[in-house]
Amino acid sequence: MHNTRDIYNHYMHFKSNILTDTNLTVKDVEREIKALNESEHFFSKKIGESFLGKPIFECIIGQGDINIIAWSQMHGDEHTGTKSMFDVFRFLFSNDCIGAEMRNIILKTTKIHFIPMLNPDGAQFNTRENAQNIDINRDARSKTTPEGMLLTNYAIPSFNLALNLHDQNKYFSAGKTLSPSNLAFFAPPYDTLDSFNSSRKVAGLLIADTIKQLIPYAENRISKWNDTFEPRAFGEFFQSKGISTILIESGFEYDDSNKEQIRKLTFLSILNILYSISNERYNKCNIEDYFTIPLNRENGMFDIIKRNQKISIEGKDFQTDIGYRNSEIIYGDLKDYGAYKEI
Ligand SMILES: [Zn+2]
Repeated sequence: MHNTRDIYNHYMHFKSNILTDTNLTVKDVEREIKALNESEHFFSKKIGESFLGKPIFECIIGQGDINIIAWSQMHGDEHTGTKSMFDVFRFLFSNDCIGAEMRNIILKTTKIHFIPMLNPDGAQFNTRENAQNIDINRDARSKTTPEGMLLTNYAIPSFNLALNLHDQNKYFSAGKTLSPSNLAFFAPPYDTLDSFNSSRKVAGLLIADTIKQLIPYAENRISKWNDTFEPRAFGEFFQSKGISTILIESGFEYDDSNKEQIRKLTFLSILNILYSISNERYNKCNIEDYFTIPLNRENGMFDIIKRNQKISIEGKDFQTDIGYRNSEIIYGDLKDYGAYKEI
């Protein structure tokens, strides 16, 4: 607990001063890697190219036996995971006394392989899909995209843990609360029966343990990604290979349009997952703790809700709530819905 609070309070010590733009391109990733290459025990290499020939990299840190694979921005317009994971790398490089115990055990017991920005073409155009207009996260089976093909090479049993980093849309609320989901976690299924083998169970326990640490900073704002088996998705693909796989969906928070708070929470989540697998703290959790995480509620949030508005139609007056979400306007009882702005 102590560790997490100190790191939360001193996050600015670790945050990348290069990845500052809201949207990232492969140029930003290259600049960040160049800066990190001056550090000891850090390796980076180009592992392939996107459909349009942009470089895709792998960054490696740590000397331990627990092999971890992480990737970000397989959806080009979802930037938070790239930023947060590089913040984690900077934390691991730091000589700061804050978090020293956590840093040392992670570096000693794990080896982290990170593929930042798997979809640099999508990042360039700020699109979800790659340059072939294909959602890479629906390409694990057919391998039509060079980016998806590249990632399949990492779904090998020598990896113990996989972190699949995404951004979710802003309209998910956390369970039945009226608050946005800051973060949603998920241990993707590997079959239609939603079975739990030992490796998927570890993923669930790591999630439950991490959420416990994050409660002081995001109470009632963390949820479970609500999804069924999707055989074309990479989370499912990695889980089916016996690699404990965790999906992290970075969400939204009030008055956080640049997602700085969400970036910080994502950083803290990744760090806690790494720490928990390093010292096996997750074993203190029960799988029930995972099953009882509140589910994401789709469209639980509006951009604006005007409560109890007086309206007149055909000369008849009545009072109702009015909700605005994208171009949609909804009239009626919206007591059970949250909004980024209430009037
Ligand atoms: Zn995504």
